[in-house]
Amino acid sequence: MLSIKNNLETLKQNLMSLNKDSDITIVAVSKQQTTDKILQAINYGQKIFGENYLQEALKKQEVLKAHDLEWHFIGPIQSNKCKLIAENFSWVHTIDRLKIAKRINDARRGMPPINICIQINISREKTKSGVLIENLDNLASELKEFSNLNLRGLMAIPSNTFDEEKLTAEFDLLSETYSLMRNKYITIDKLSVGMSNDYMKAIHHGANMIRVGSNIFGVRE
Ligand SMILES: *Cc1c(COP(=O)(O)O)cnc(C)c1O
Repeated sequence: MLSIKNNLETLKQNLMSLNKDSDITIVAVSKQQTTDKILQAINYGQKIFGENYLQEALKKQEVLKAHDLEWHFIGPIQSNKCKLIAENFSWVHTIDRLKIAKRINDARRGMPPINICIQINISREKTKSGVLIENLDNLASELKEFSNLNLRGLMAIPSNTFDEEKLTAEFDLLSETYSLMRNKYITIDKLSVGMSNDYMKAIHHGANMIRVGSNIFGVRE
């Protein structure tokens, strides 16, 4: 029972060792984890949770509704899911198409704007979601007309590889792009990169929002 507390403590100590712990938002990725485990993290003070699958997330939100939590949607978005995502999350990290952005904007009417990140396909793999970097600025400027979306940042999942050179090139390109975009779009203040196996490297390259799952909750069921 102690392990989730210990895992969160270790994570925070690692961030502290970088002297950046207070600037970094930890999104605890609870996909395929039980509400019991989520409750343990809540008891240790964690309030921000990331989920990939809408139906699974809605069930957990219902069970945990007595707690004051911030839910982040971090999975691929199908258009028929936009309405429920807009209504039940405060952040969406995986915006990569105008059509999806518009649907979420429309469904968010009458509520405070939803925080969004544009997902970049930094590894340029065909199977991966995200905009290609050359289309990023175009999409970001198109989003300006959507008053129910608050463009807060950029999100990416770098290659899953042991090729350190390739990985570093991707992280460098991300941090460079992040500073360009921050200068151009004043609402951007988050770089959402870094998972269990690469969050230290991500932070080193300017990430200030990390999405950590298995390092907190253990292997997924
Ligand atoms: C699952 C997932 C994570 C967390 O991955 P871990 O390796 O368990 O830390 C982070 N981001 C996204 C988009 C995910 O799908």
